[in-house]
Amino acid sequence: MENCIFCKIASGEIPSQTVYEDDQFRAILDLSPASKGHTLILPKKHFKDVTELEKDYAAAILPLAAKIGQAMKKELGCAGFNLVQNNGEAAGQTVMHYHMHIIPRYTNGPKMVDWKPNESNPEEQQELAECLSKALQ
Ligand code: 5GP
Ligand code: ZN
Repeated sequence: MENCIFCKIASGEIPSQTVYEDDQFRAILDLSPASKGHTLILPKKHFKDVTELEKDYAAAILPLAAKIGQAMKKELGCAGFNLVQNNGEAAGQTVMHYHMHIIPRYTNGPKMVDWKPNESNPEEQQELAECLSKALQ
């Protein structure tokens, strides 16, 4: 994809702080980290979002994220990590090249925004479950 910044970073055309690279992926440090060590996994092939991601990339990315998360715990001393992956502008995606965030979480912060759990309505829940399960058959 011409003019895609993450295509250029993934291919090495634009330099980045690379923490891992293989045939399929490059993992880089986020330029504006949510916490120390915030990393992004970029596929070397352009996919807009998870709905376009090919199966062999999808199968490989979670084990890689787990490996990077383990390395963060061991080497950076974080107590845990979040895997975050935004799809679509409404969901907070700002770079339209699929990527997965690995965000180290430290016991002393920084705090991050969590969603507020709302009460569910049983009737609405049933309608939602029926609607989605029908679409997924
Ligand atoms: P999104 O909001 O699309 O899920 O995440 C995009 C992420 O890419 C953001 O966290 C942002 O800081 C990061 N980012 C945007 N442009 C660059 C860049 O040129 N280099 C690096 N390393 N990170 C970038
Ligand atoms: Zn791209």
